[in-house]
Amino acid sequence: MTNSFRLGPDGIYRCDGFQEFIWQKHGFGTRDANPQADITLKQVHSSRVCNVNGWHAQNREQEGDALITDEAGKAIGIRTADCVPILLLDCRTRAVGAVHAGWRGTAGELVQKTIEQMGRDFGTKPADMYAAMGPCIRCCCYEVGRDVAANLEAWFPEWREHEEMSRKVNLPLANRRQMEDAGVPSGHIFDCELCTACQSGQFFSFRREHENPGRMLAAISRLR
Ligand SMILES: [Zn+2]
Repeated sequence: MTNSFRLGPDGIYRCDGFQEFIWQKHGFGTRDANPQADITLKQVHSSRVCNVNGWHAQNREQEGDALITDEAGKAIGIRTADCVPILLLDCRTRAVGAVHAGWRGTAGELVQKTIEQMGRDFGTKPADMYAAMGPCIRCCCYEVGRDVAANLEAWFPEWREHEEMSRKVNLPLANRRQMEDAGVPSGHIFDCELCTACQSGQFFSFRREHENPGRMLAAISRLR
């Protein structure tokens, strides 16, 4: 299986590794276009996972940073501008998930909590799960001070080698490690490797455009 992501003529990225699952539709937005999402949340950098079965579009003021569902025909989405967008699918039960993981969500193990809740609510087994990580800020552009780094050191054992005043943080790697710890096979985890801060022509970045960053949507739905 390939790790490649493809930019469609509609201005939306899709993960090749997800395309064999023809029962789903997903996409990662850019400056030019966003996929359509029926249900989004009021995102608050929490570790709250919402099972949106039975929800309708008017629930959108609910707070949380991850959505899960196994209902067909319902596109769930999260908005990002630097944070890691992670889309999840369970190839056996056809449950899907969308996760907004900034440093707080990563420190709060949000993606692990999402996988666990999919297990409780839908019977998802980590071995059946696939994950796609979209455009986000990468370690080339994401340097944080000691205070923030202290919250993330559990996922970077290599940091123990020497003290630093600041750290270049690879948030997608921390999330990959959390998913692997949860039992998702490493070959099921795809990363587009695109940096929102470097690739300013294509993506909005909060770090780069502090005053008025736009937002990109990442969305997934079970079609049937
Ligand atoms: Zn960069």
